[in-house]
Amino acid sequence: MLSIAGVSISLQLTPQTIAIIVAILVVLLIILGIGGRRRHRRRRAGAQHRAGVSRGGTRSRAKKRDHGMEIAQRHGAARSPEWPRVEKEHLLHEPACAACGYRGHGLQVHHIKPFHLHPKLELEPSNLITLCEIKGRNHHLLLGHLDEWESFNVNVRDDVRRYHGKSDLHIRADIAWQKAVAKRP
Ligand SMILES: [Zn+2]
Ligand SMILES: [Zn+2]
Repeated sequence: MLSIAGVSISLQLTPQTIAIIVAILVVLLIILGIGGRRRHRRRRAGAQHRAGVSRGGTRSRAKKRDHGMEIAQRHGAARSPEWPRVEKEHLLHEPACAACGYRGHGLQVHHIKPFHLHPKLELEPSNLITLCEIKGRNHHLLLGHLDEWESFNVNVRDDVRRYHGKSDLHIRADIAWQKAVAKRP
């Protein structure tokens, strides 16, 4: 005799009834188990998602567009896996824009001779110079690339001295710079 909530059910505890009760309990446990795991997974996925968003946010703010890589890719060249190390070492040695002394966000390690044309010079320290990409100066584009990312300026070392501390407006207004732009490679 089994009594559940005042309702009495007559049960003959035959091996079959016991088997059915055990089967029901097993099915219930499986359902509860799956539900619990799913909730847990959802929570974990949520946490990972949130972490990813905040990490992604900092990354997109920290990482500027890599024009050098984009141009090299267009020419079928890829960055060397050694590049991040060489770039970091260069920034330790030359941590400010060579044309204005700016330090901080918006600096680029520029290849004087583009590495898609001179693959051997990609990691060559003497082919690197730090230039800024900050608003109002953009020394990377104007002095490193003569106003055209696909082009380059072999005289950039002289030009960072000649235009030291000058704004983008001042550089654009300079006749010598305009002549160099007209003859850029
Ligand atoms: Zn560059
Ligand atoms: Zn600068």
